[in-house]
Amino acid sequence: MHTRLLAALAILGVAMTATAGAPETKAAPDKAELDRLAARFKPVDLTVDVSTLPANERASLAKQVEAARIMDALFLRQVWAGNDALLIDLADETSAVGAARLQNFLIHKGPWDRLDHDRAFMPGVPKKPGSANFYPAGATKEEIEKWIGSLSDKEQANAKGFFTTIRRGADGKLAAVPYSLEYQGELDRAATLLREAAELTKQPTLKSYLEKRAAAFTSNDYYASDIAWMELDASLEPTIGPYETYEDEWFGYKAAFEAFITVRDDVETGKLKKFERELQGLENALPIDKKLRNAKIGALAPIRVVNVVYTSGDANRGVQTAAFNLPNDDKVIKEKGSKRVMLKNVQQAKFDNVLLPISKIALSPKDQAKVKFDPFFTHILMHELMHGLGPHSVKTKDGKESNPRLELKDTYSALEEAKADISGLWALQKLVDKGVIDKSMEESMYETFLASSFRTLRFGINEAHGKGMALQLNWLLDKGAVVVGADGTMSVDRKKMKTAVAALTTEIMELQAAGDYARAKAWLEKDVKIRPETQKLIDKMTAVPTDIKPRFVTAEEVTGASAGGGS
Ligand code: ZN
Repeated sequence: MHTRLLAALAILGVAMTATAGAPETKAAPDKAELDRLAARFKPVDLTVDVSTLPANERASLAKQVEAARIMDALFLRQVWAGNDALLIDLADETSAVGAARLQNFLIHKGPWDRLDHDRAFMPGVPKKPGSANFYPAGATKEEIEKWIGSLSDKEQANAKGFFTTIRRGADGKLAAVPYSLEYQGELDRAATLLREAAELTKQPTLKSYLEKRAAAFTSNDYYASDIAWMELDASLEPTIGPYETYEDEWFGYKAAFEAFITVRDDVETGKLKKFERELQGLENALPIDKKLRNAKIGALAPIRVVNVVYTSGDANRGVQTAAFNLPNDDKVIKEKGSKRVMLKNVQQAKFDNVLLPISKIALSPKDQAKVKFDPFFTHILMHELMHGLGPHSVKTKDGKESNPRLELKDTYSALEEAKADISGLWALQKLVDKGVIDKSMEESMYETFLASSFRTLRFGINEAHGKGMALQLNWLLDKGAVVVGADGTMSVDRKKMKTAVAALTTEIMELQAAGDYARAKAWLEKDVKIRPETQKLIDKMTAVPTDIKPRFVTAEEVTGASAGGGS
C-alpha cells in the first residue's frame, strides 16, 4: 500500500516540477550529498540534572514527555498530508541512500531542506505546500480567501482561528474543523497523559496548567490553559500544544503542534532577579541625554530560564529553538502579557558545538582562550532585558507623540537588535564596575561577544539580527576596538572597546529618540555589509556545523524508553 502511495507521489512530483517549470532541475542529492546535509547538524546528547527532583515530580515529567511525543506525529501530519506514508516507507527502506534520506527527513520533519529554501532532498515529492495540511488538497489561496470573505464575522473568526483546519465536505463545500475533532484520537491520548502528569505533581500552578491544557485538547478552547501557562511557577515548566503559525505560509492563521518539556534553572533564575533589581539604575546611567532617560521604566515581560528535557513537533525541526515568546493569542497577551523562555542547555550545546569552533577560526589565539559560556549566556539575558530600556517614544517635528518603531520603519528592528546587543555589553560592564557581577566577566565578555558576532553573521545579513550585528562589528572595527591581525584573525582592544561600546549605545539610542529615518537609512546602507576581512574568516567556516541535533538522554532515562529525536 505504501509503495503504491509513493509511486503516486512520484508521479505527482514529476508533474508538478514539470508544470512549475523549475529553473534548476538539480538531481536529487545522492548518498554523499545527503550525508553532507545531515552533517550540518551535529549530534549532541542533551541532558538535565533531575536528581534533585522528588520522585513524584520525576514521574510527572515522564508523563509530560510521553504526551510530548504525540506532538511529533501531529506536527508531521500538519506539515504535509504525505508525510506519514513517506516516513513509513523511509523507515522500511534498507538501502544506504534510504537511510540517509530518513536522517534528513527526521531533522526537517519532511522531505524538504529548511536551510535551503525548502529544496526537496529526495525525488518524487512535490514542492513544499505553502498551505501545509491546514487547507484542503486542491484548494487555492484565492478560493479560501473568497470563502472566508463570504462568512459572517463569527464564522470568519473561527475560519481564521489558530485551532481549526479548513476541509472540504462531501458536498464540495468548505468548512472549519476544530483541532479537537481533526486530531481527536491523538489529542485524547495526550490529554490522558497530561491528566496523569497533573495527578503526580504536588505543585499547584503546574497541576493547573496540565489539567487545563488537557481540557483544551478536547474542548478546543485554549484560553484558560494559556492563562495558567503564564502563571506557572514550578520546578517543571512544560509548554505543549498548538502554538506557532509559521508553517501556515498562506495566511499564518493555523497553529502547529509542539512541546518543550523543561526543568527550571534556579541559578540563572536567581541571576535574572538580581539583574532586574539593577535595571532602573542602569536606565538612570545610560550614556544618553538625561532628558531621554525614563524616570520609571515599564513593567518587564517575565523571563524564565529552563533546561530542555525533550522537545517535539514544531519545536524540534531544522535549526533548534534557543528561546521563545508565547503565547500568541492577543486576548491572553492583553490580559496577562507574554513570557520569554530561554533554553539554557540548548544554548550551551550550540555554544560548545558551533560557537567554540567558530572562535578558533575567527579570533586570535590569545582571544580564543577567553571565549566562555557564562559571559555568552549572561549577555543573552542582558540583551533581553535591555530591549526594555532606552527611549521608547519620539516627539516628532510637528509635535506629535510617536515611537521609534513607527518612525524608523524598516530600519527599526535591525537598530533595536543592535541596541539590545551593544547596550547589553555596556550594562554588563556597568555591573562589573559596581561589583554586582564578578570582575572575571570583564576578562572574557568582549572576546566572547566578538566570536558570537561571527555566529550571527554566518547566517547572512538578511534579517534584523544579522543586520544589527554587521552594524556593530563594522563600528567596532572603525573605532579600532576590534583589530585585524597579520594572520587575518580578529582580536579585542579592551580599552578602546569600552569607549566604543558606550559610544555606539549613545548613537543608536539617540537616533531612536530622534526617530530620524533618513539618518538611520543612510547608516544602514553604509554599514550593513560584510567587509572583505570578515568574509575571509566566514569562508573558512564551512566545516563548522550549522546547528545541533539533540538526543534527549534525560527524557530517555526518565521514561525508560528511546525518546527518538532523529538519531
Ligand atoms: Zn533581541
